[in-house]
Amino acid sequence: MTASRAEVVILGAGIAGCALAYHLSELKVGPVVVYDPQTPGAGATGRAAGIVTEQLWNRWDVEVTRESMRQYAALSARWDPSAYTVNGFVRWARDPAALSVLDRAVARLREWGVAVQELDAGGLTARVPWGDFDDRPRGIWSPGDAVVTPSTMGEIFAESARQAGVEFVLGTPLGRFARSDSAWELEAGNRNVRASTAVIAAGAWSKALLRAVGHPLPLSPYRTQAAVLRPRPGPEVFPSVHDIDVDVYARPEARGRVLAGDGTRLVEVDPERFNPGADDSFVAHLAETFERRLPGWADAELVRAWAGVCTSTPDRRPVVGPVPGADGLYAIVGFNGFGVMRAGGTARRLADLLVAPDPSGRAAERLGPVLPSRFSGPVRDFAPRPGFTLDDGDDPRF
Ligand SMILES: Cc1cc2nc3c(=O)[nH]c(=O)nc-3n(C[C@H](O)[C@H](O)[C@H](O)COP(=O)(O)OP(=O)(O)OC[C@H]3O[C@@H](n4cnc5c(N)ncnc54)[C@H](O)[C@@H]3O)c2cc1C
Repeated sequence: MTASRAEVVILGAGIAGCALAYHLSELKVGPVVVYDPQTPGAGATGRAAGIVTEQLWNRWDVEVTRESMRQYAALSARWDPSAYTVNGFVRWARDPAALSVLDRAVARLREWGVAVQELDAGGLTARVPWGDFDDRPRGIWSPGDAVVTPSTMGEIFAESARQAGVEFVLGTPLGRFARSDSAWELEAGNRNVRASTAVIAAGAWSKALLRAVGHPLPLSPYRTQAAVLRPRPGPEVFPSVHDIDVDVYARPEARGRVLAGDGTRLVEVDPERFNPGADDSFVAHLAETFERRLPGWADAELVRAWAGVCTSTPDRRPVVGPVPGADGLYAIVGFNGFGVMRAGGTARRLADLLVAPDPSGRAAERLGPVLPSRFSGPVRDFAPRPGFTLDDGDDPRF
């Protein structure tokens, strides 16, 4: 058994864990060890669509996503320009309830400095020329929104961290993770790592990990699906789109293909046992629902389809910061289905807090709305709700 000491051990090498390792290395914190029983991209990150948008339902999310965008643009320019593309994002609706959510969202988004433009049917046609908007839906458009290749961005964070000395322990089952003698001790394969600080960044697996060390948090993993299709004839370039009425989104992929999704089953699943394939009904639903707006879509050729597991929280916000009552234990979890766009900015804020852990300091303040301490009392079951929404109220449809 090889034993070593680290300053920080990170459990999970998805985009959140890798981004955190990168930011800790930028802040010269070390040694840092990242552990994953599989490999980077094995979790939700390797299965995500990679839409990055400022069309969000609260100011904190907008700020961290904007921060992530800056990081992804700079890192992809240095490492792999194809990993990040600014293509804009269009959402539309015809349902009156959805339109009133959209109208309220526009006012809020502008207050938060988001350059969002309203579109009538003509404006929608100008942005999505192959769309059918004859029944006069309305929409919104954010020209600065982007798409990222999530697994590549995770790898870029990991590679940059590695170059700065972060060690990755991958592909070995977890033997033991526990607090002993004022340190967190992780045993995997022939490695034993002791660290004063441990960070849980294990996506959907975090619920079980936290419960196993006696510090449960209210997290609920749920399954969600996506597919790559080749429409005939395929649009070469188009913005990412979201049809709010049917809750289906799509983004461009290379070579005229399109990645589309909805498929969120809002029931809790066990990430160790979920079905990673897509349901037939999901693929059929995609074809049917988009056909109304994007004629010809129903004949699209299916390239591949899959499912992944996201993690929901009772208030649809992530859980980031010190785990109450657990010395030296932190979490960066519960991204409610849009952790790719928030990982970079959130990880930077957590790294700042790890450097200056004062609970009343500026770093803690910047994590204010997502600190785990907002949940008190016993952890209760709750029904997962989607977080990729514009609504700040309780209506889960939008
Ligand atoms: C179909 C689909 C579409 C999506 N589309 C988008 C999108 O367009 N935009 C967006 O922002 N987000 C999107 N998401 C959500 C996004 O994928 C997640 O929020 C994000 O990837 C979470 O990253 P993570 O690093 O927290 O978790 P994960 O990527 O799940 O990584 C967790 C890691 O923990 C590891 N692990 C498991 N057990 C342990 C253990 N015991 N110890 C240590 N590590 C462990 C796993 O192997 C895994 O590698 C989508 C998700 C899905 C499934």
